[in-house]
Amino acid sequence: MRQINTFSDKRLDNMCSYCGDFPDTRDHVPSRILLDEPFPENLPVVPCCDKCNQGFSLDEEYFACAIECIIQGTTEIEFLNRQKIKSILSKKENLKKRIESSFVVENENKYFKIDLPRFENAITKLAKGHLKFENSEPQFENPTSIAFKSIFDMDENEEEAFFTPTVFDKAPEVGSRGLQNLLIGHNQEILSHWTIVQEGTYQYMVSVSSGVEIVRILIWNYLAIEVIWRNQ
Ligand SMILES: [Zn+2]
Repeated sequence: MRQINTFSDKRLDNMCSYCGDFPDTRDHVPSRILLDEPFPENLPVVPCCDKCNQGFSLDEEYFACAIECIIQGTTEIEFLNRQKIKSILSKKENLKKRIESSFVVENENKYFKIDLPRFENAITKLAKGHLKFENSEPQFENPTSIAFKSIFDMDENEEEAFFTPTVFDKAPEVGSRGLQNLLIGHNQEILSHWTIVQEGTYQYMVSVSSGVEIVRILIWNYLAIEVIWRNQ
């Protein structure tokens, strides 16, 4: 991945990107559990405290494994596609059972009842990480809204709205990656853009305008996520 050095206020890097505490370590966003090997070089990292780093990992593991099992409609290892998920679920019997028991059959249709707090926790972490990486300024508040959906369940309008870059009406933090990496549209308007972390595997888009921060994420060309903070 091409990466841009930032010139923003270094004090912003002296705190955990998720809670604001002293950063003991650095955290990959997205977590590598969502990517395929070989990993891209220069993965985005953000400062992070040990507590957050460990606190999110079980939720991220559940999140990644659940998505793969939902896509394949099963927890049977031989029918799963992603190598990393196969290897986690073959080691973690309890996690596999838990996901297995979330499949319910009603009227001959198979549904998956997700553990919403775990999904929302994993998604919030990803969105905060992308926001911090692109905009330099961290966001410690919980999002105003979190929405996610399979792209196969979207109608044409929803899909277009999701993939179309949004117009900034306020430039990102001076010196941040977001500002150095902006697209200028036909009418000289400033547009957000998709960052492809790994083609077909993970992409995200951050847009910041006055009072509103939006992070969109597409995982495995399947799960479309939109996280919004309204600051007013
Ligand atoms: Zn923290």
